[in-house]
Amino acid sequence: MYRFRLGAALAALLCFSGFTNEVPAHHGDGVFINPYAPDRSVGVFKVVRSRFFSGEWARYDPVRDIVPTTTPRLANGDEAVATVTWVGHSTVLLQVDGVNVLTDPIFSTFASPVSFAGPRRITEPALTRDELPPIHAVIISHDHYDHLDLRSINDLGEEPIYFVPLGIGKWLERRGISPERIRVMDWWDEEVLRVGEVDVAFTATPSQHFSGRSLTNRNGTLWAAWSIQWPSFHVWFGGDTGYNEVQFVETRRRLPPIDFGIIPIGAYKPREFMEIIHVDPREALQIHLDIGATASMGMHWGTFVLAGEGVMAPLEDLAAARLEAEIDEDEFAAWAIGETRTFPLEMDARESFPVRTAVAE
Ligand code: ZN
Ligand code: ZN
Repeated sequence: MYRFRLGAALAALLCFSGFTNEVPAHHGDGVFINPYAPDRSVGVFKVVRSRFFSGEWARYDPVRDIVPTTTPRLANGDEAVATVTWVGHSTVLLQVDGVNVLTDPIFSTFASPVSFAGPRRITEPALTRDELPPIHAVIISHDHYDHLDLRSINDLGEEPIYFVPLGIGKWLERRGISPERIRVMDWWDEEVLRVGEVDVAFTATPSQHFSGRSLTNRNGTLWAAWSIQWPSFHVWFGGDTGYNEVQFVETRRRLPPIDFGIIPIGAYKPREFMEIIHVDPREALQIHLDIGATASMGMHWGTFVLAGEGVMAPLEDLAAARLEAEIDEDEFAAWAIGETRTFPLEMDARESFPVRTAVAE
């Protein structure tokens, strides 16, 4: 942790002193870093004790924990609306203007390097590979197993264009995806994908998380949130992230108004070590306000048990946070898995959201 902070301080110093403004604050020495995370190290021992020996970890009880599920109603391509379907976890199908985008696809039973062990799904994906419409683009937020799933990538194959953060392009290529199908991007890079007559702009935006698929490659690849801009609808997908007062306000400032936010609300306890890397529902609501989304949905819950809060806790905590912030359920809802909702195109972004911090230009 100290090394990371030192790297950030050094990068900031270099920028300030005018030697270079070419090293972004999240580029460390061979690793990526969180420029705005609190300086707090949590020992591996503590994490292991909490996970395996403390009883702090949530257990799934199929009688008690009833995650709502329903049947998707996919778009047929002619609708003058945006159609959004929650497949489960962070996998969301966006259908706008005939261009279909899938986020962090995971259809596997286990979020793990092996197909028979690890965190096991407690709810089935709402769609199978065969039930998906043609997928024009896939966005990947980071390389953790519950977001970058090898079997799902193998199934999608060369059909989509993959938009991925720095470092993940090589991983895809090693798995047989041709370089022409991959767009590797740093924070604030933008690429336009043309499908038929429609141009969709993809921008990698900052988030606060970490990466690594083994003990040896921690933070060697970048993590990101994504902005996806159709001509008439603008979606922001948060990936996995902790909260800070800078990055989401900056996202709002640098991008056109966001119509719809997809924001994680699960895997947030114990706060002692989850706080830096996963928002709780209250902070998720704050991100919704910071980015100024007209409406948002909560994801990353109800699918895998990855942390210490109960399976249904995100629903209760989100409801409490909404009450406290006086925000309607319509504005930030936790959906049923499989639920499809439609939104009008060219939604008017509101002007009057409270923004927690002002960021200097
Ligand atoms: Zn993650
Ligand atoms: Zn995750």
